[in-house]
Amino acid sequence: MSNYMAEKVPCDECGGEMARGTRKMTITYQGLESPQFEMPGYYCPSCEEGFVTGTDMKMSDYQLNLLKARAQNLMLPEEIKKARRKLGLTQREAGAILGGGPSAFGEYEKARRLPSQAICSVLRVLDMNPDALELLRRVYLVHERERTVPPPIRVHKPSERKTYAPTHNNERSAIV
Ligand SMILES: [Zn+2]
Repeated sequence: MSNYMAEKVPCDECGGEMARGTRKMTITYQGLESPQFEMPGYYCPSCEEGFVTGTDMKMSDYQLNLLKARAQNLMLPEEIKKARRKLGLTQREAGAILGGGPSAFGEYEKARRLPSQAICSVLRVLDMNPDALELLRRVYLVHERERTVPPPIRVHKPSERKTYAPTHNNERSAIV
C-alpha cells in the first residue's frame, strides 16, 4: 500500500467513508476461473463502492497470470520452482542456462512474469531427462566464461599484424 494514500477516503457514491480492507473476489480468463481471493483496496461499508490502487492490483495481476499460464499450458510458478530445484539450479543459473536472464526465474516463480513456451518446453524435457542438463550447461556456461575473457590483443604493426587469442587454460596464448 502506498504511503501517500490516506487510510480513509470519502465515498463519492453515498458520501460515506471508504476504508482500507479486502473483498472476496474471483477473476476469469478464457473460461477459466481463479480461486476466491482477498482483494485489497478501499471499500465503502455503506454501499458497494470500492477502488483499488496500482499496488493492490499486484494481487489480481498475480491471479491473472496464474490463469494465463493455465490457459496457455505454461508451467505454473510452483512447477517451475520444483523442476528447477530438482535440477539443482539456482534461479540465476537457470536464467543463464535456460534463458531469460538473472532475474527471470525469480519472476516466473512469483508469477510476476510468464515464462515463454520455449522455456517451459526445455524445462519439461529436462524434468523428464535431467541428464540433458549437462549438455546445456556445457554450451551455455562455457559461453558465459568466454564472454568474461578480455578480447584478443591486437598488435598494430602494419608490417606484421597479428592477433593473440587468450586461452582458458594455463597454455600460452596462441597466435591465430
Ligand atoms: Zn458508499
